[in-house]
Amino acid sequence: SASISDDYSVQKTNDDATESKYAAVKLNYYYDNFIDYFTHGVHRRDPEISTGYWARVAAVTSVVRQFIDATGGHCQIISLGAGFDTLYWRLKETNQQIHSYVEVDFSSVTAKKIRLIRKPHAWPTLPSFFSQPIKDDHHTDLHAGDYHLIGADLRQIAEFDEKLNLSDLDPELPTLVLAECVLVYMAAEKSHELLNYLSNKFKTIGFLNYEQVNTDDRFGEIMVKNLKDRGIHLPGLAICTNLDSQKNHFRTANFETINAWTVLHVYQKFFSPSEIERIESIERLDEKELLTQLLEHYSFVYAFKDGSGNHHELAEI
Ligand code: SAM
Repeated sequence: SASISDDYSVQKTNDDATESKYAAVKLNYYYDNFIDYFTHGVHRRDPEISTGYWARVAAVTSVVRQFIDATGGHCQIISLGAGFDTLYWRLKETNQQIHSYVEVDFSSVTAKKIRLIRKPHAWPTLPSFFSQPIKDDHHTDLHAGDYHLIGADLRQIAEFDEKLNLSDLDPELPTLVLAECVLVYMAAEKSHELLNYLSNKFKTIGFLNYEQVNTDDRFGEIMVKNLKDRGIHLPGLAICTNLDSQKNHFRTANFETINAWTVLHVYQKFFSPSEIERIESIERLDEKELLTQLLEHYSFVYAFKDGSGNHHELAEI
């Protein structure tokens, strides 16, 4: 099982994600009026990395907006390993209604996020977007109307369940679960337990997973080694090495409709040519091949289980 120092390295991956998103936002790959609340200073990333983050954020945001539209906002969203993600505020800024939005991460990460949320800011403050004033404010958990932030280790289902039950969730309401580079840090049997638990708990559930894939070739080995050198291990890759094994992971956890794509596929097929042209003109890509390789080593899985027996597929990302 994972040691404390491994957990610490995993928590640090949030800083890397936040700083990478910040770097992309500062160069106008996409808008995020809230990223400044969570990091500042100068962060730079190679153009391939920023392009990858743009694709990741654009696709996740699109799936979430489709889900909210399809349910008329009578839905709930659970973001696993949410880190300093800003999606809740970006949705509320555009007046999206959600019954409940729950973010989960290790307690040390949620404690930091709570401090940043509560820090005095120029208007609009982060709490001004919550549907109600902050009700319960512990060191690691925050509940405020439609927004809930809870500290829990996703490998400890009993503790996680207890905290979810305090987050105003209705098992009958359509629920979308997001995991952006999270499951891969857990041993496969732990993520399997987590998927099973969630698909049993909610009658109608969509799950969007984004993470590394196809890591058994030369490029993938280098990716994994670079992380390992920084103390970050990806035990989740043990069984989810390719798109088929990813799909299988969800199928065996009772999801019914499962789609899986490489990010390269999403990039080439789902985004409009004009948007790709805009993205690729922001910075000069020395070598298009490097971008292609990188995008081939990340995947999106969208898995769905509909309690009413209907099948539901995403039209497109
Ligand atoms: N999803 C965020 C994003 O895309 O900006 C953060 C991604 S970061 C690469 C991975 C996050 O997952 C970290 O914040 C880490 O603390 C969290 N995480 C990993 N394993 C976890 C676990 N067992 N329990 C709770 N959080 C976990």
